Amino acid sequence: MTFQQVKDQDQAYIMHTYGRVDVALVKGKNARAWDTEGKEYIDFTSGIGVNALGYSDPAWAAAVAKQAGEIQHLCNYYYSPENTALAEALIKASGMAKAFFCNSGAEANECAIKIARKYGEKRGANKIITLKNSFHGRTLTTLAATGQEAFHKDFLPLTEGFLYAEGNNLDSVKALLGADVCGVLLETVQGEGGVVPMEKVFVQGLRKLCTEADALLMIDEVQTGVGRTGYFYSYQGYDILPDVATSAKGLAGGLPMGACLAGEKVKDLLGPGMQGSTFGGNPVACAGAREVVKRVSDPEFLEEVREKGDYLRERLSAMPQVEAVRGQGLMLGVLLKQGDAHEVLVKCAEEGLLVLTAKELVRFLPPLTISRADMDAGLALFQKVLQTI
Ligand SMILES: *Cc1c(COP(=O)(O)O)cnc(C)c1O
Repeated sequence: MTFQQVKDQDQAYIMHTYGRVDVALVKGKNARAWDTEGKEYIDFTSGIGVNALGYSDPAWAAAVAKQAGEIQHLCNYYYSPENTALAEALIKASGMAKAFFCNSGAEANECAIKIARKYGEKRGANKIITLKNSFHGRTLTTLAATGQEAFHKDFLPLTEGFLYAEGNNLDSVKALLGADVCGVLLETVQGEGGVVPMEKVFVQGLRKLCTEADALLMIDEVQTGVGRTGYFYSYQGYDILPDVATSAKGLAGGLPMGACLAGEKVKDLLGPGMQGSTFGGNPVACAGAREVVKRVSDPEFLEEVREKGDYLRERLSAMPQVEAVRGQGLMLGVLLKQGDAHEVLVKCAEEGLLVLTAKELVRFLPPLTISRADMDAGLALFQKVLQTI
């Protein structure tokens, strides 16, 4: 199919919920991708942080194909060794205690919210504090958790019981943390909110406040997790352990999978019938995730992610059109001195570079496996585009 045929089909048959750029990708290899017309791109998106091992990594693709040829799905009434082996690997890499598998970030956060509500049930605490400018998903409850008015306004009424505090402001959380609060949910680096990192004193302070108030500290690792920030989960870089962590995006390397990880204190709170998912823990997705977790949890791999992140940050900061670079590891936001981030994104695509935006920033989430040569090639294209802005 030509690009125009694809675009015509999209216009006719797909709801227009995405502001799309004129590119249709049909093939990829690590940090390079090709479109319907054979044009090559350097990829600084990994599909919004999903393709942790890049496009169609050979070992990942082989694991997924092998599992698809053996048994592709079974109902959660029965045991699956792919499921249990992934859970063990994930629990060991995360320092948490037990996992629940689902299919997306929003679902993982729904599960976290249910755990917090169940935890607070006995003492009548059902409020959950989240941060202003956060993003936690598109279901009605995770939209309510999302501290951004713009996402709420068309879909009222939302789920009740969410309170919004200021990020990097412990007093603001303290002021809301009454006896009616059962949990605090936050991203360590706000992704969709414009790549806004939380400070170590803030996150460590929250850990202490939550313990004192008997509220669960819940970290949304959907974007920051699975190596993205240079730690398997970003909280490991903050030297804390949350009570609940949620994971999705990069977890299965490109297949739909989410996980809600519970710490020791709440690992058995949800019993039979209280939570479930038809597709959750699907063996094909698990086979992909096992390959991702095996590779990404290696300390040497994580060290390389931090080095690559430092390199990208340094090179970007040195560009005369760049005001500031924010983020951690290979999750970076570039604030420009002038020009519109979306316009930069469109021009980058024309030049053969795929980037994302987050609020007024250009956002980079390259595959964790990107090579130095591909980073350099992408940086050169980005510099070329900035010179025209
Ligand atoms: C993307 C994202 C979500 C939602 O994940 P979906 O898989 O789209 O449901 C939730 N939280 C954060 C921090 C995210 O970046």
